[in-house]
Amino acid sequence: MGNKRVLITGAAGFLGSHLCDRFVNEGFAVIAMDNLITGDIKNIEHLFGHRNFEFIEHDVSNYVHVPGALHYILHFASPASPIDYLKIPIQTLKVGSLGTHNLLGLAKDKKATMLIASTSEVYGDPTVHPQPEDYYGNVNPVGPRGVYDEAKRFQEAITMAYHTFHGLDTRIARIFNTYGPRMRLNDGRVLPAFIGQALRGENLTVFGDGTQTRSFCYVDDLIEGIYRLLFSDYVHPVNIGNPAEITIAEFAEEIIKLTGTKQKIIYQPLPKDDPLQRQPKIDKAWEILGWEPQVSRAEGLKITYEYFKSLPPEDLYKKEHNTFEGYIKK
Ligand code: UDP
Repeated sequence: MGNKRVLITGAAGFLGSHLCDRFVNEGFAVIAMDNLITGDIKNIEHLFGHRNFEFIEHDVSNYVHVPGALHYILHFASPASPIDYLKIPIQTLKVGSLGTHNLLGLAKDKKATMLIASTSEVYGDPTVHPQPEDYYGNVNPVGPRGVYDEAKRFQEAITMAYHTFHGLDTRIARIFNTYGPRMRLNDGRVLPAFIGQALRGENLTVFGDGTQTRSFCYVDDLIEGIYRLLFSDYVHPVNIGNPAEITIAEFAEEIIKLTGTKQKIIYQPLPKDDPLQRQPKIDKAWEILGWEPQVSRAEGLKITYEYFKSLPPEDLYKKEHNTFEGYIKK
């Protein structure tokens, strides 16, 4: 695969960095791109110096130029946690819309296959449960999540238009909640929030009454699903997620047990438009890709907890953890 070149955007982020590892290990030449707003160079530092790896610091919302041949583009650049997109709403809209347009143009020019990281957020606060790919969703375009959800919906629409109008080879992965090593401890999402709180000896903050549900997929399973989707010939959206659904209150209990913290659960208001339920229907992924998750939550959480424990203490005590203030890396 040494002659096959893949561009990965959002390469210094959580999913992007794991994709870089996978494609380098498979023998591809990887061009990693990131503007380092929410990504962290530490996530890909170990790949620097590898002969099949190069890094370009660039914001894909601006014109993207990559010299030479390109066979695949994986567009994973985007703020991805609710507090990120509340803090940087315009960048969130731009990377999903303008960024996707730039990369589709590049893919067309290079005759590359383009895979986009879409999301379960295209279903909004779903009224159909679990969510199949043919459910059109329930999104509030002007709510706080609208900047992410609508950018991703536009991203799917323009990707499909490039496929039908220009004949571009495209893939659409709808990614559900994913967790694992390299999540940002301070990104505000529920898993790093709870583990960070447990490690600091703080109470765990459950939003709302904790009856809202999520379904968490371990990162290795997710990467395998993306890999299989890219090398399939399926152009319609495919859900990639773990159907093991749990309420957030139960999830907090699991983290309390896992970490052995003596702290308690405290309840805080539910953020606006926070989906009440979420669970992927993954029949399609199974039929088309022969894919289903392999890693149980118990196994995945253990590995993830070990990762967070191994971080330097200053990461844990960054002032901006789990708040809306100043948490974006400068
Ligand atoms: N949540 C919570 N406490 C926290 C952070 C998040 O109860 O400290 C809840 C949040 O309200 C949501 C769920 O956990 O119902 C998952 O939130 P997350 O931000 O991880 O991602 P989402 O699935 O909402 O995009």
